[in-house]
Amino acid sequence: MSTLSKLRNDCFALPAGVHWTPVSEALDLLEQRLQCCVPVETCAVEASDGRILADAVFAARSHPPCTNSAVDGYAFSGGLQAGAQSFELRQGRSAAGEAFAGQLLPGQALRILTGAALPEGADTVVLQEDVQIEGGQLEVVGPLKAGANARAAGEDMQQGAEIFQEGHQLRPEELGVMAAAGLGEVSVFKPLKVAVISTGAELRAPGQAARVDQIFDANRPMLCALLRRWGMEVVDIGIVPDEAAAVRAALDRAAARADVILTSGGVSAGDEDHMSAVLRAGGGMALWRIAVKPGRPLALGVWGGVPVFGLPGNPVAAFVCTLIFARPALLRLAGAGFQVPKALHLPAAFSKSKKAGRREYLRGRLRDGAVEVFASEGSGRVSGLSWAEGLVELPDVAAEILPGQTVCFLPYASFGLP
Ligand code: AMP
Ligand code: MG
Repeated sequence: MSTLSKLRNDCFALPAGVHWTPVSEALDLLEQRLQCCVPVETCAVEASDGRILADAVFAARSHPPCTNSAVDGYAFSGGLQAGAQSFELRQGRSAAGEAFAGQLLPGQALRILTGAALPEGADTVVLQEDVQIEGGQLEVVGPLKAGANARAAGEDMQQGAEIFQEGHQLRPEELGVMAAAGLGEVSVFKPLKVAVISTGAELRAPGQAARVDQIFDANRPMLCALLRRWGMEVVDIGIVPDEAAAVRAALDRAAARADVILTSGGVSAGDEDHMSAVLRAGGGMALWRIAVKPGRPLALGVWGGVPVFGLPGNPVAAFVCTLIFARPALLRLAGAGFQVPKALHLPAAFSKSKKAGRREYLRGRLRDGAVEVFASEGSGRVSGLSWAEGLVELPDVAAEILPGQTVCFLPYASFGLP
């Protein structure tokens, strides 16, 4: 476990008198109370996909490093006036990685290939299909602007310029950008270690034998895979029965090995809801009654200085709460900025009458420019998560949604998912 920032037991306490916390307030509270808890290490650019930058990254060299040709053709200086002109063709050529050593004089031209450095004395390239060569002379017809078909040194990135900010989570294309900018390694945060626990006497691991009154643990494979997609390291603690001693032992094991703990199930006030009871007895638990559907309640606790997110057991609620609440919180602990998904505003292809007082997330997908929703809102209907391609976010206030009205769609991609 990281010792960088042990959380205080009361760090998730809510202001007195608050019963139903609006989603935006819950997110603000998470943002305020959590901070990066992982140390820094150096990582090769090649291996840095998904890693979170611990420092801003600056270009080590300009890109391109020297002015080079964008086409196969002939290099010369100064562009062309309108009309026919001829140049003396120099012996030799400039190819990518094999620059021409000499200098061109006014009136001279040189064979040049794509990606090759422009020789000294040249700033313009004419396409090879636009010239004729006769008796050592290059015949061309203008006009052509000075600098045409050349990529100027530093036009893409200037040496010393900041290219990425601290806290940015690197994507594959950005490994290309950093390599082009001359970087070999970057300073990143060590991956956040997240322990995952499923609770419930009814749960069996996927593939095990199960009686009809038992169900398979759908949450753990889903949550572990989400965490890996977000660049985190999973510590799989397994399934824990609804017994206080077993829950405590599992939390102890998790806190010893991970920076943060995600549990699912056992957080409401039912007889068998041992997770909330154990966290409460351990001295550091706040049950956030967040005004959200599906998903309430979300239990937030601290166990041995390690934050615990107690997700609801229903797979749909566990998934939605992970995307909406746990993801920004975990990314913050991992050193990234607090991220809320970028919404698309699109016409609805459905009708719905929504009550005031809570935010609702429906499983949605985009078809023919409009958002349709899954036939059932039942939060046990796990198949709807796969049917969907994102979540429809309905506002806290009451709403009468009719086809064609604009709704807020959060594609799975806006949560860093495929
Ligand atoms: P709980 O929050 O423990 O009361 O669980 C709510 C519902 O979700 C119950 O129907 C549980 O059987 C179900 N559930 C809890 N955990 C899981 C899990 N890991 N996978 C699938 N369903 C679960
Ligand atoms: Mg349960």
